[in-house]
Amino acid sequence: MTAAAWQLPTLAVRAGQERSQFGEHGEALYLTSSFVFENAAQAARRFSGEEAGNVYSRFSNPTVSAFEQRLAALEGAEACVATASGMSAIMALVLAHLKQGDHIVTANSLFGATVQLFNNILTRCGITVSYVPLNDPAAWEAAITPQTRLFFLETPSNPLTELADIAALSAIAKAHDILLAVDNCFCTPILQRPLALGADLVVHSATKYIDGQGRVLGGAVCGPKHLTDEVFKYLRTAGPTLSAFNAWVLLKGLETLQLRMHAQSAAALELAQWLQAHPKVARVHYPGLPSHPQHALAQRQQASGGAVVSFEVRGAREEAWTVVDQCRLLSITANLGDTKTTITHPASTTHGRISAEARAAAGISEGLLRVAVGLEAVADLQADLDRGLALIPA
Ligand SMILES: *Cc1c(COP(=O)(O)O)cnc(C)c1O
Repeated sequence: MTAAAWQLPTLAVRAGQERSQFGEHGEALYLTSSFVFENAAQAARRFSGEEAGNVYSRFSNPTVSAFEQRLAALEGAEACVATASGMSAIMALVLAHLKQGDHIVTANSLFGATVQLFNNILTRCGITVSYVPLNDPAAWEAAITPQTRLFFLETPSNPLTELADIAALSAIAKAHDILLAVDNCFCTPILQRPLALGADLVVHSATKYIDGQGRVLGGAVCGPKHLTDEVFKYLRTAGPTLSAFNAWVLLKGLETLQLRMHAQSAAALELAQWLQAHPKVARVHYPGLPSHPQHALAQRQQASGGAVVSFEVRGAREEAWTVVDQCRLLSITANLGDTKTTITHPASTTHGRISAEARAAAGISEGLLRVAVGLEAVADLQADLDRGLALIPA
């Protein structure tokens, strides 16, 4: 095995697999909660960590390890620890590396549940959070206090596809001895590799593109071993580890991730161009369009614009809901990352719990719709959206 020299497509299919005595071609699924030792002395060595090997599936499992190694290889990370969901990856990262009194700087455009975790749970642990504009590195620097331990961000953001300059924020974080963690859910390592741009840790909701077919929940934290080891220690004790079955599904997801990301991104670009020319569309948010305010950064930082396109219809909630309600092909759901295209109205769903003022300040208008493009024919997606758009008064 010369895994170190393999290119991304090869790693996606081959990395991390260790065959058992049976010589299986596909990855084995080890559905076992615990592991048996040869004798008492070996049990003692395994428990103390003196001997490497599996003990109990809350600690490690061979199928989960294969997924961890494959994802680490794709992210260019030394190590990876898998978690039960994307949220447990974020929680594990924070609780493994921060303590009472510490401070996080993050962006005000953040996945909704991450905001809830930070505001409602971490604050109870005495960890404070400041929110700054994602695309303004000076604001991140200005928010630093002597207690700041972590910069946390997603790029591109959901749903407006704003970008953070990972390299610029990494330079600021390093100068102040702060960890930089990037939620790479939207791009996946196929389109963006945050560690190569200077991030310390990458988190994933594997539920999205890594599975990519809407089946299971999962998450991961990738980075240098000395940082992921702390996350492992937290997980082993606190328990939100990835199940072997989900790891097995996600391993298969990784095999086609490259094909799916490129195909879905190409379709998203085509759809974004069509929307931009549509008379009933006021504005399109997509990093792959030259009209995106950070298009140059997107070209530097990402292999393509990604598969999420947001757009504002001419009108407000009523007109946006008309487009949603006319959809027969697109799935009306807040999930994303699937081969089946999804449509959501953020102001009344994913961002419905925040105040109207906060929503307006975040730029999430009543006319905004988010489409996470899948693998259907673009012409069919256009026809589905056009049915509703046609009903909006000129
Ligand atoms: C979905 C999502 C999460 C949370 O992941 P789960 O697997 O649903 O827990 C975190 N970050 C981003 C950007 C997401 O889209």
